[in-house]
Amino acid sequence: MAHVLVLPYPMQSHINPMLQFAKRLAVKGPRTTIVVTRFIINTIDVDAGPVSVEPISDGHDEGGMQSAVSLEDYFQKLDEFGSKTLEELILAHEKSNTPFTCMIYDSYVPWGLAVAKKFGLPVIAFSTQSCAVSAIYYYVREGKLDVPRVQAIESFEGLPPMERSDFPSFAFRDGSYPTLTAYALNQFKTEKDDWVLFNSFDELESEVVRCLKKYMHARTIGPCVPLMDVDKHDGSDTYGMSTFEAEKDSCMKWLDAKPPGSVVYVSFGSFASLGVEQMEELASGLKASDEYFLWVVKGPDRKNLPREFIEEPPEKGLLVKWSPQLAVLGHEAVGCFATHCGWNSTLETLSFGVPVVAMPLWTDQPTNAKYVEDMWRVGRRVRAGEKRIFLRDEVERCIREVMHGEKSEEIRRNSRRLRDLAKKALREGGSSDQSLNELVGYLNAKAK
Ligand code: UDP
Repeated sequence: MAHVLVLPYPMQSHINPMLQFAKRLAVKGPRTTIVVTRFIINTIDVDAGPVSVEPISDGHDEGGMQSAVSLEDYFQKLDEFGSKTLEELILAHEKSNTPFTCMIYDSYVPWGLAVAKKFGLPVIAFSTQSCAVSAIYYYVREGKLDVPRVQAIESFEGLPPMERSDFPSFAFRDGSYPTLTAYALNQFKTEKDDWVLFNSFDELESEVVRCLKKYMHARTIGPCVPLMDVDKHDGSDTYGMSTFEAEKDSCMKWLDAKPPGSVVYVSFGSFASLGVEQMEELASGLKASDEYFLWVVKGPDRKNLPREFIEEPPEKGLLVKWSPQLAVLGHEAVGCFATHCGWNSTLETLSFGVPVVAMPLWTDQPTNAKYVEDMWRVGRRVRAGEKRIFLRDEVERCIREVMHGEKSEEIRRNSRRLRDLAKKALREGGSSDQSLNELVGYLNAKAK
């Protein structure tokens, strides 16, 4: 019998989509086990439904990533301890009657691939980024696209015309974040027949998916977003794992009292932290837009809020430390999402048909924002000013445009269209569902 080991990078925005994928896979038959760090298992209630959860170590069992001296230190320990404990786990299963028959590993976890190869396990890469971003990293590594040198591209192998500011940051190989850059660029060291799964759907990125298929067995199986599943097998409105506790009651109560389409939901994801100056500009822009807003400001970032915002919170705003984002995006009061365009947030807003005000910071976010504004036409991108800060007037202008501007109705129509296509892709016989069935056939054949 097929027994699939699913190995995400141990961070919420990688675990969530891979856990959601694992649940859908398990419902189709294969026994499925997701592997996360001991720290996460000990600190968070992981609700994995039909999927088993087993631990490995990142060398920081007590404090997790936060307790590492630096990011580089964390990566090093994760590589060392992760490999060792993953090997132990696979060995233990080999000796039992539930040996693994395939590993689906996050393409940001190269050491997972090395361990699987050591055991002769068939491997499948899983990308938690868009196909476009994955393609850019692949083209850069293969020497097809020299991002640091090109100022712009007209269009290239499935990619649209792009400016320098649209490329994902690690494509520039500027020496910062060396390990992350290496992870990003070395993701798809694959043979042409190797399977690579993407958390996206064909209808969203058809051109670039077509081009990727020339180089790898690329399949889209997304969007891996709960509530989008037609069979709703896990019956929840969360991924089943959250590092932070959402202020669900206060968010929902506040939204319930607002007219349909009237609220700007603002969040920069789980990782980013905005400085004092950016907070001030954003706060002023939100206030000036005169819209209701629900703004997620994580605990440690509160100190960067303007003082008057804390002393006298604006009448039309609600600040929370963490929101139940899916429930928020699914609420009819929400009119747009002002987001950093992390890939999960982007897919979630597309899946719920909520228009976007894009404020990309780094990694893959600028490319996602480019697609939001120019390809899918579901929002506006706020152009950063000096010091790469989003200035208040520009924030206000983009919010107004998306909420009530000349193109607002068209943006809403496009958003609804993509939401419907996302649902269709997941439904029985849809493009992502077909890929999943094909995958199950492959996994079963490999298990024989
Ligand atoms: N999220 C949430 N509540 C919040 C803010 C974010 O549940 O208040 C979730 C969101 O639904 C998404 C994830 O956190 O699944 C953020 O992932 P994304 O890829 O967008 O950004 P990252 O955290 O990697 O920067």
